[in-house]
Amino acid sequence: MRIFDPHIHMTSRTTDDYERMAAAGVRALVEPAFWLGQPRTNAGSFMDYFDSLIGWEPFRAAQFGIRHHCTIGLNPKEANDPRCREVLDILPRYLAKDGVVAVGELGYDSMTPDEDEVFAAQLAMAVEHELPVLVHTPHRDKQRGTQRTLDVLKESGIDLGRVVIDHLNEVTVGLVAGTGCWMGFSIYPGTKMSPDRMAAVLREYGSARMLVNSAADWGRSDPLLTRTTGEAMLTAGFTDDDVDRVLWRNPVEFYAQSGRLELEPSAADEPATAFAGNSIARGGS
Ligand SMILES: [Zn+2]
Repeated sequence: MRIFDPHIHMTSRTTDDYERMAAAGVRALVEPAFWLGQPRTNAGSFMDYFDSLIGWEPFRAAQFGIRHHCTIGLNPKEANDPRCREVLDILPRYLAKDGVVAVGELGYDSMTPDEDEVFAAQLAMAVEHELPVLVHTPHRDKQRGTQRTLDVLKESGIDLGRVVIDHLNEVTVGLVAGTGCWMGFSIYPGTKMSPDRMAAVLREYGSARMLVNSAADWGRSDPLLTRTTGEAMLTAGFTDDDVDRVLWRNPVEFYAQSGRLELEPSAADEPATAFAGNSIARGGS
């Protein structure tokens, strides 16, 4: 099973996680810029973080044969802090860099006027830089937040085929299916989606434009839940090809729209018959 995790925050994970992910079949991932828990007080703090997403983390991932890409943006939560607004001025120089495959995570946290303004400004940057967009949907008031997100996206004039709306569930997927946007699902222990519920959603809505991620971060989360979801799909009667489409070909197709996705030719061409445990470089630290 070859796996591309389209949303995972490796900054918050250990090197043991990289090793376990590689052994489970994860060969590529996208790390979206997000909120680190501790509020940042100036734009310089973001610059150091963005630099780690395009420098240090790809280096760490490469030691385990994993291709690392990232998205860059001012997240909705910190969009509300005036000390962080200057980040919008430094974004264009990061959006020009190799390895940055989308603008994100954007969208709403509490649906404030500040969030509206920062969301719209970054959608315009995505259009200008011809990059896809990763949109976070709020964890509270999810249905209203998702609907408002769709309204803003339609107003912006962005090509909806270049947008993924993430953290969907059974309640919100119906709002997005049929809009042309890609649909992201975060499989989390305890909350959000479980592997079995995900398989049921795929049964009902099909696998086109569906992305499954672990969204593992500094909270309670599990970077191997992409693999567990693939196994749940097989148990539910899906074929190996269905699993390969959802866990590999769909995220490749979505992020390839950036023109910057770099995958090993062998990883990009053929489905794996066995995980590449023997060829993984160990350690290096
Ligand atoms: Zn995230």
